[in-house]
Amino acid sequence: MEDVKVNGTLIWYYYICKREVWLMAHNLTPDQDNQYIDLGRFIHENSYAREKKEISLGNIKVDVINKKNGHVLVGEVKKSSRFIESAKMQLAYYLWELKKHGIEGTGILMFPKEHKREEIILTEELIKELKDVEKDILRIIYEPKPCAPEKNKYCRNCAYNEFCWA
Ligand code: SF4
Repeated sequence: MEDVKVNGTLIWYYYICKREVWLMAHNLTPDQDNQYIDLGRFIHENSYAREKKEISLGNIKVDVINKKNGHVLVGEVKKSSRFIESAKMQLAYYLWELKKHGIEGTGILMFPKEHKREEIILTEELIKELKDVEKDILRIIYEPKPCAPEKNKYCRNCAYNEFCWA
C-alpha cells in the first residue's frame, strides 16, 4: 500500500466504524450509486448556494461563510444530523488544518433540512483528541486486514453492507 495520509474522510469514518476506515483507506470503493451519497451531494449543491466561497488546502475544501479580522467562519452542509459526531470531528479536523496554516477559524455545521446549525470551536481538548485519532487511524490502516464487522446502527445504510454481511 502507498503511504497513506489521514484526511477528513477517514476522520469521518473513524467515528462510524473502524472497519470502514480500513476499507476506505485501501480503496475498496463501495457502491457509488448509493442514494445517500447522491442526496448529500444534491443538498450540498442546492442549499446555501448564495453564501458559497471555498478554501482549498491540499485535500481539504471548506466553504467560507464569513471573514472578519483574519478569522474565518467555515461551514459544512450536511443532509441530516444523524452522523453528527463524525461531522463535528471532521469539521474540527479542517479547523485544525487551517490553524496549522496560520488561519484561525470557527466552524458551523448546517442541517438545512432540519433548520439547525451548530457551532464548532477548536479547543485544546479537540486538538488532543484529533492527534490521538490520527495515530489510531494510521494503526488501523497499516493492519494487514480489516477488523471483523461488528453490527452497529450505521450498517443498514452503509455502502459496504453487502460486503460485510452478505
Ligand atoms: S456494514 Fe457495518 S461493519 Fe461493515 S463497514 Fe459498514 S458500518 Fe462497518
